[in-house]
Amino acid sequence: MGKKQNKTGRAIALLAIFLGGAGALFAIVTPAWAAVLSLAPHHDIVLTLTPATHHLSARDTVTLDGSGTLTFYLSDLFVLEGVRLDGTGVAVQRSGDAIRIRSGGNARHTVEFRYQGRLPAITIDALNGFALSPQGGYLSEGWFPRASDAPFTYDVSVSTPLPNKAVAPGTIIHETQSGGRYRATFRTSVPTRTLTVFTGPYQIAEKQLAIARAEKTAPSGKKPVQSDIALRTYFTPQIAPLAGDYLDFTARYIQRYVRQIGPYPFTGFDIVSGPLPVGLGFSGLTYIGTDVLKLPFIRYTSLGHEILHNWWGNAVGVDYAHGNWAEGLTTFMADYAFASERSANGARDMRLEWLRNYAALPKGRDRPAVDFVAKNHDASQIVGYDKVAFFFVMLRAQIGNKAFDRAIRLFWRDNRFKTARWADLQSAFERASGQKLAYFFDQWLHRAGAPSFVIDAPYVRKESNGYRVSFVLRQGGTPYRVRLPVVVATKDGAHRFTVTANRDGERFALDVPSQPTSLAIDPNFEVFRRLSPGEATPILRDVTLSPHSEALVVGTAPDLITQARALGAALLGPDAPIRSAAPYAASGVLPAVPLVLIGALSEITPFIETLGIPPLPPRYARKGAAWAWATRAPGGQPIVVVSARSAQALGEIVRALPHYRRRGYVVFDGARVIETGNWPVKPGAHKVLLAPPAKG
Ligand SMILES: [Zn+2]
Repeated sequence: MGKKQNKTGRAIALLAIFLGGAGALFAIVTPAWAAVLSLAPHHDIVLTLTPATHHLSARDTVTLDGSGTLTFYLSDLFVLEGVRLDGTGVAVQRSGDAIRIRSGGNARHTVEFRYQGRLPAITIDALNGFALSPQGGYLSEGWFPRASDAPFTYDVSVSTPLPNKAVAPGTIIHETQSGGRYRATFRTSVPTRTLTVFTGPYQIAEKQLAIARAEKTAPSGKKPVQSDIALRTYFTPQIAPLAGDYLDFTARYIQRYVRQIGPYPFTGFDIVSGPLPVGLGFSGLTYIGTDVLKLPFIRYTSLGHEILHNWWGNAVGVDYAHGNWAEGLTTFMADYAFASERSANGARDMRLEWLRNYAALPKGRDRPAVDFVAKNHDASQIVGYDKVAFFFVMLRAQIGNKAFDRAIRLFWRDNRFKTARWADLQSAFERASGQKLAYFFDQWLHRAGAPSFVIDAPYVRKESNGYRVSFVLRQGGTPYRVRLPVVVATKDGAHRFTVTANRDGERFALDVPSQPTSLAIDPNFEVFRRLSPGEATPILRDVTLSPHSEALVVGTAPDLITQARALGAALLGPDAPIRSAAPYAASGVLPAVPLVLIGALSEITPFIETLGIPPLPPRYARKGAAWAWATRAPGGQPIVVVSARSAQALGEIVRALPHYRRRGYVVFDGARVIETGNWPVKPGAHKVLLAPPAKG
């Protein structure tokens, strides 16, 4: 594709980036309601798709304002069969993807293009702007002529032989199945920047939902209309039995967010399946890989996340030049909310996981949250999703649930069908709470990093009616202004306090009725901070995120070395050094960088024993065929050990293991994970013991 075309190729570029970043499964690709232009171009596209022969033929009638030479971009893969300007056939100049047409004076023009071509087959490893095969296809970029990357409206009519069907974001205004063909027309009358069509041998299931719905054309103060929206699944036959369950979950998520935020912003919601192993969010539509949809937890987690993107990211677009707030807010209101409802410790466990991931992030890769645009690698996810979601956890604690909920509705009311920035969120939260929050947004979002807190000089004194615990709070670096939970354990139970820390070296005094035994700062992980070494138990990311990591292969069998190299590259990236461990076995001294040690069980077990590296506890080592665990060498350097019964067992985990980088240990049987988790935080890691008061 030509240069200009690539510039407009946002959606598919993102798609490619995120397939490359292993573990990154979901993204929004459509900032749909971007700057709305009054005279947006309109595309009226009539499309015939023949998956068996990979063939597309199309007529696109474009209405737009322009003068002089009009330049359109269409992939040069397509054969142009004719162009008409304002009803008359014209000659065009074509070079690469560019098509130039002389239009004459300043006016509204109608340009009709007829073209056809044979598309590449769909493959899950290489993504193009478009692909078409009997098992499915997508048209994302470069498949219809565009004059600029400005927003546009469209009608797209698709005809394809049954059992194939097709779907695009927008209102379905016509649909028939007759003469062995499926035909449907989709309309979007609010300008959008992307138009993606999906096709495949779908079975369509539908459920009507009566719901309050927001109209783009209605003033924001007007009462929302109560109307039916159509929920649909476009599932391939093998997962068609899951449709009813997915539709029920979808209805519940939409009702939940209508209650929490405001009226549903689109005319329906479609879940589209297909061969690509990804999740993509569009206005009123999500595409999720067939194999992903089969995973039982998706309907409890990612589905709700994708549905919430109808509000955050689609109906309220992101002004990317000023940072992407939508992923963190969506993670907070979906993933985090679901975790806290699922189990008593769910919310705490998720916060601890975010802090552990952050602890694994090297300082050189940390960035301010306002710089986050899209998840293109692990490090950006830790800031753009985890830290921003944690920011909302703290903001809710700061202003209270009622003010927080009011702010969410206010932000929605003021910004729907527009793009919004962090400053718009700050304004809504300040108005709803009556608090000035500039310092809060500034220290957590505009600054990289996190505070670390250390208790200094703890002291207990007997008072006439109890005990006084005093201590000095140390903060490294530029201090944060933080409301910090402090728990004092006493002989008769625990007492919880909240202190407001403003600077380094502040002294605090807390009174308790009976003799105190220990003092703990933030034991439930309610503040975004650097974990102490005892709290930050090892995870695979301690090694995979470091730019200095290396892999050492323990063993000499050629097939083992081949699989170990593939695994090393999958964990550390294609450029990381991978070498033999033999010289280090002889010297007994490892290179002083984070290491992945990979080998067959029979060889790696004596190797790590010699070097004093902790083995996997027997209760995990007894089962499975391959194991990976994060630990530390006696000198403290992060180590990941990967051990397998055979070279084949090692080969079977190459694809899956990178998805478990946030874990402390993983046990595989073939490619299947049979056990995974994090090492428990050592008791007492985050607290200091208090000596009894001095006598007299
Ligand atoms: Zn998302």
